[in-house]
Amino acid sequence: MTALKDILTRRIAQTGPLSLADYMAECLLHPEHGYYTTRDPLGASGDFTTAPEISQMFGELLGLCLAQSWLSQGAPAPFTLAEIGPGRGTLMADILRATKGVPGLHDAMQVRLVEASPTLRAAQKERLAGYEVTWCDHVAELQDAPLWLIANEFFDALPIRQFTRKGQGWAETQVGLKDGALTLGLSAPTPLAELAPRLEDTTDGDVVETCPSATPIVTEIAQRISKHGGAAIFVDYGDWRSLGDTFQALEAHEMVDPLARPGQADLTAHVDFEALAQAAQPSGVVSSQMVPQGLLLARLGISERAQALAAKLSGEALESHARAFDRLTSPTEMGTLFKALALAPSPDKMPPGFDAG
Ligand code: SAH
Repeated sequence: MTALKDILTRRIAQTGPLSLADYMAECLLHPEHGYYTTRDPLGASGDFTTAPEISQMFGELLGLCLAQSWLSQGAPAPFTLAEIGPGRGTLMADILRATKGVPGLHDAMQVRLVEASPTLRAAQKERLAGYEVTWCDHVAELQDAPLWLIANEFFDALPIRQFTRKGQGWAETQVGLKDGALTLGLSAPTPLAELAPRLEDTTDGDVVETCPSATPIVTEIAQRISKHGGAAIFVDYGDWRSLGDTFQALEAHEMVDPLARPGQADLTAHVDFEALAQAAQPSGVVSSQMVPQGLLLARLGISERAQALAAKLSGEALESHARAFDRLTSPTEMGTLFKALALAPSPDKMPPGFDAG
């Protein structure tokens, strides 16, 4: 039994079942035994791989997208260039390399990384050596300044609550105990005001998920963009409006039982982009239409960039480059499963590649 499994089993025995959100929060970020707290989970030798780890093209194109957006809003200085959940720092490193030639941008930027994991902060520090970078625990700590922000595969790592429709009420998925072992169960159904709109587009037995901690994060970002200018780009796997059970665990690139080894597997759920857009709305920013990753990268010029890089490659390196292009863009890989959403101060200020919603 893992140490965390022992802790959670005792806690449930004493105080009753945990919501999925509480279970996920403990598994991912427990100060001593949490998944992100204790390891670098990325890459071939880890549990999962992300777009920036697959190819430098992802960060280069998104970096230039952010830079163009900064230029078209009058190149304000100083401004905050922020990333939430920066993993190994690869995306930010690619963004910074790609934007080096943009006149004035590096002089005007103040780089902020919002990262919960001490292990990954150390990896980011190493990766971004040579740049002046400040870390924070939460987006609320970002300065009051124009903000250009990016998040890739961040929101999928936030704890979710999961509900199954029963008549006019909702039963919440909980982690409880059966014969001393962790097991998933459902609470007694109750009506829930926040899910009232979903009574219209669901039927008995349908599952919907919410991500309570995403809302305050998006609100903080949207308020800064509305007040000071800027833009945010969120890329993740998911869709418009949550429907169905998407809670999953990955270990060594394989799907595993999410209850089997708490703290040892990556736990995620699909991102509900409609919920992110709705969380931004009250602050007065506009959200873009949700765009599939493959289409966004095509609009930002990935074919041209891929060809330029290919011209310098041969043999195995060329094959691996072609394979990376495919992984990022193909509908059978990340191209349509992954989506992007942008926030901007007004419809005419949408970053390149995004249509106003
Ligand atoms: N964006 C990176 C890594 C994605 S993994 C990439 O594309 O490769 C998720 C990242 O979010 C990790 O850096 C993890 O430590 C961080 N993270 C997860 N939950 C967090 C939280 N609540 N606050 C801040 N960072 C968090």
